[in-house]
Amino acid sequence: MVQASERRGLAVEPREIKHEDDINLRITWADGRLCRYRAVDLRRACPCAQCVNEWTGERMLRPEAISDDVTISDISVVGRYALNFRWSDGHETGIYSFRYLRDLCEAT
Ligand SMILES: [Zn+2]
Repeated sequence: MVQASERRGLAVEPREIKHEDDINLRITWADGRLCRYRAVDLRRACPCAQCVNEWTGERMLRPEAISDDVTISDISVVGRYALNFRWSDGHETGIYSFRYLRDLCEAT
């Protein structure tokens, strides 16, 4: 579980979001950092209320419940602060804030 950080400003502002292919996402941040994400890792890190207990923060989603070949079907930008993914397994409720994405990148 990635703890919410205090990152702000350029570090959580994407300059470019590139859906390279079905399983690779690349984000270039305004501070120059390049982060690469694999679909399966992002899917397993889904922060939605089905995957994480809203009250305790406990991750309800078991990693092994997600197939290694899950792919990104679609990505949309939510407001100015987050991305929403539609996955090949039909899941689409996760809202990944830019801060969360940056934290995931720094945690690996
Ligand atoms: Zn989820």
